[in-house]
Amino acid sequence: MVLLKNKSIEKRLKKLKIIFLDMDGTIYMGNDIFPWTIDFLKGLTAKNIRYVFLTNNSSRSADAYVNKLAKMGIEASIEDIYTSGDATIDYLKEHKVKKIFLMGTPSLEEAFVKAGFKLSDNNPDMIVMGYDKTLTYQKLNTAYHLIKHGVPWCATHPDMLCPTPTGFDIDLGAMMQALISATGVEPKVIGKPNAEMTGPLLNRLGVSSEYVAIMGDRLYTDIKTGLNGGLISILVLTGEATKEDVKTSEVAPHIMIDKNIDLLDFFS
Ligand SMILES: [Mg+2]
Repeated sequence: MVLLKNKSIEKRLKKLKIIFLDMDGTIYMGNDIFPWTIDFLKGLTAKNIRYVFLTNNSSRSADAYVNKLAKMGIEASIEDIYTSGDATIDYLKEHKVKKIFLMGTPSLEEAFVKAGFKLSDNNPDMIVMGYDKTLTYQKLNTAYHLIKHGVPWCATHPDMLCPTPTGFDIDLGAMMQALISATGVEPKVIGKPNAEMTGPLLNRLGVSSEYVAIMGDRLYTDIKTGLNGGLISILVLTGEATKEDVKTSEVAPHIMIDKNIDLLDFFS
């Protein structure tokens, strides 16, 4: 089943150069790849369409996703993965931030150090909160005092909960509430559905949003990212959102398909 909003989207699809792919619910579910995903990716490559996997999860590095995808038979390199941690690094670089107080996992710390940031709680330019599975009272309290002293802060993504094979875990959106409650100051939030997740990536790839699409299973993150970033937005029904949700949602995708591989029908 396919929904097309207008002819101009159809025209843009014919010139598609890059597609951003959500992972969970879009190309796999938990640890199980959808049986049609490999053929879908091969089909994109055959049409000279590059794909980049996007994730809001800043607790894991691009390397970890390369390994996870490899186990499923998907060949990807670090350049093919873009996390909200990467988006935050690009955003801070654009804003000439150099020294940060970071609340993040060791892999996120490594990514920021590799990108040239100095990590310090002594007069940082910015506080950065990631999906920190190693969060301590001490880190939170340090961030609290820095925010009270006027240091601006940002968060890598807004998700309240993170899906797991058995349900959900608490995610950054819920964790950051402690600091918002204590300080009354809201962070700048990167990550889906904000345009900061795709803007710096488009710059990195040197491509205009006109030639790019995003595919995902969530209306309020993936599809909204597309609308905020001026991308073609494609909803798949293999994850969270249902046809019923689309009827009642303010966020409308340009295209709705049952599963990722159905997109290839547009190019045949
Ligand atoms: Mg998803």
